[in-house]
Amino acid sequence: MRPDILNPLFAEVTALKGIGPSLAKPLDRLGLARVVDVAFHMPSGWIDRVKRDELDVADAGRIVAITLTPREHRGSNGRGPTWVQAADAKGNHVSLVFFGGHPGWAKKLLPLGEARLVCGRLDTYGQELQIVHPEVSEPDSGAADEFRAREAIYPLSEGLTSRRLGQFALEAIARAPVLPEWIEPGLKAKREWPDWRDALARIHADPADKLARERLGYDEVFANQLAMTLVRADTRKRRGRALNGDGRLRYALRLPYDLTGAQARTVREIEGDLAQEAPMLRLLQGDVGSGKTLVAAMALLIAVEAGAQGALLAPTEILARQHYETLRKTLGGLPINIAVLTGRDKGRAREATLMGLAAGEIDILIGTHAIFQEAVVYKDLALVVVDEQHRFGVAQRLLLQEKGRAPHLLAMTATPIPRTLTLAQYGEMDVSRLDEMPPGRQPIETRVISEDRLDDVVNALGRHLADGGQAYWVCPLVEESEKSDVAAAEARAETLAARFGDRVGLVHGRMKPPEKDAVMAAFAAAQVGVLVATTVIEVGVDVPNATLIVIEHADRFGLAQLHQLRGRVGRGSGRSVCLLIRGSALSETSRARLALMRETNDGFRIAEEDLRLRGAGEMLGTRQSGEAAFRIATPDLLHDLLQCAQDDARLLIDRDGGLAGPRGQAARTLLYLFERDAGVALLRSG
Ligand code: ADP
Ligand code: MG
Repeated sequence: MRPDILNPLFAEVTALKGIGPSLAKPLDRLGLARVVDVAFHMPSGWIDRVKRDELDVADAGRIVAITLTPREHRGSNGRGPTWVQAADAKGNHVSLVFFGGHPGWAKKLLPLGEARLVCGRLDTYGQELQIVHPEVSEPDSGAADEFRAREAIYPLSEGLTSRRLGQFALEAIARAPVLPEWIEPGLKAKREWPDWRDALARIHADPADKLARERLGYDEVFANQLAMTLVRADTRKRRGRALNGDGRLRYALRLPYDLTGAQARTVREIEGDLAQEAPMLRLLQGDVGSGKTLVAAMALLIAVEAGAQGALLAPTEILARQHYETLRKTLGGLPINIAVLTGRDKGRAREATLMGLAAGEIDILIGTHAIFQEAVVYKDLALVVVDEQHRFGVAQRLLLQEKGRAPHLLAMTATPIPRTLTLAQYGEMDVSRLDEMPPGRQPIETRVISEDRLDDVVNALGRHLADGGQAYWVCPLVEESEKSDVAAAEARAETLAARFGDRVGLVHGRMKPPEKDAVMAAFAAAQVGVLVATTVIEVGVDVPNATLIVIEHADRFGLAQLHQLRGRVGRGSGRSVCLLIRGSALSETSRARLALMRETNDGFRIAEEDLRLRGAGEMLGTRQSGEAAFRIATPDLLHDLLQCAQDDARLLIDRDGGLAGPRGQAARTLLYLFERDAGVALLRSG
């Protein structure tokens, strides 16, 4: 249970003065539902105001705060802007301009002859100075204090201003308790970090405060690494069951090819883990096409050889079905039962599967999250393989523990992550890397083409189809145009269909699963020549005959995602081509990033470079899946603090594994503060 001391922070935002139901909505759009969210809503920048006694053209472009006396109200017949001429103490003039407001209102705000404190951006307009939409207050109203020299800028949503968010942050801090210190005293002194509550107050007052930001970032990273270290320590302690496969299934298996060296090595690593009683906790990283599925299959066979059951969890329906087909084909000749279970399976078929699982007649179950629902009971689940699940966090893992007696876990990802970030995201896991492609693969040839030349691209597609080739055409979400990715894909499918007729298929996230599957099946069977898709095809889909991929708006994708998409082709032995369509105006960074895609097919190198070009926040990738891993720790902070936080977490657990001492208790509070408390639950159960 969360310590009481944190309760004020976890109250709903409406507990803050001035926030009613109507404000709660825009706050919620920013993900600010509770007081703590507001306190941790970090300013993204700041503006500096300069206090001046005199107008000076040299201040143009700056935010100035200055006392002015209105001299003349001008213009406005109800349309057009209202102008108020005003002068400083020396008689220099400035125009205060209001667009679209009621003219009477500006006159009331700035009565002639009465001094007012005015604040806003000083601009030149022809020969004149002007301030558009200034903030105005009476000189001794107390509001003058509000013209702080530095004001924080916050990420906003409609209906909110930075100033209001700043006020709410202050209130949130006022409600924040003084918390016991969890940072190691020597470290804190050395880095000259402020106390937690001070740090919060300081960052909202002055977003440039480096030490305050560092401290809060460290808290978050430390909480993260601590939670992982706890999971790891707990896993080591747990008694699962050792799975010693006798090899009978693996020997009987007839594969059309040999395992790559990397696959063989990885299977040995997994075999070694499975032979231990302590449950395996291993991450398999391997670029798209590196052959992870086969490694998963071997691991599952080991479990079955040992008399247990295995499950393979896929992120989507399509992938679950595809894995099912693949494994049924690959493992076809073996005396084992494989079943598939997704949210779509209902009625009798579902019942039969559930009974087969409970009775132990089904050896391997493949499916989506449905395979961990309450009604699903296993006879003896001993291994879970999780494919492409960025969101498979500690909490899900705990859920899993309830299904089997501490099952072994293998997580697989094709999202290449730089080594530093692996520690932040998977710090508690052992890592295997498939750093070798199956033989015979030709590198994908990547070309970057301006969108002006779309006709050429369509012609090239025509030639490709005429030669019996198949292709993907990917339409991403285009934010600016307010069109959804679905609309974009539908429009593209239509224009292509005008030329290629029923050889064009369309698949997107809003289609019903059976429709989606039908299209995918038609594509796999080569009835569909070009598959127009939103990014739903991103992970895993495998159609070796598709050797051309066109990606529209390539400059808007993350490189890791582009790389994933590109990996849809190059799966057979034929030459594959990836055409990246770019906008006509490109930033330097976009240019460099696309050039990198052209230059290399190495996912890990792309990840490292992308990190350098773009920063870690997006790389951590979770933003796409809607779960922000870090909200305070920026890429730079993460880079600086991660190792230190990891070491410190390990040291603390070594010394006080139960987090029972004073610092341990403080650390528990920290885990709750950053909602990494699944780790605390482990402490109790273990
Ligand atoms: P990913 O790592 O992206 O999941 P897959 O498991 O889908 O990759 O494998 C990609 C393709 O490579 C599949 O068509 C698979 O049959 C093939 N493959 C896997 N291992 C080998 C191997 N050792 N030799 C040749 N082809 C292989
Ligand atoms: Mg895969």
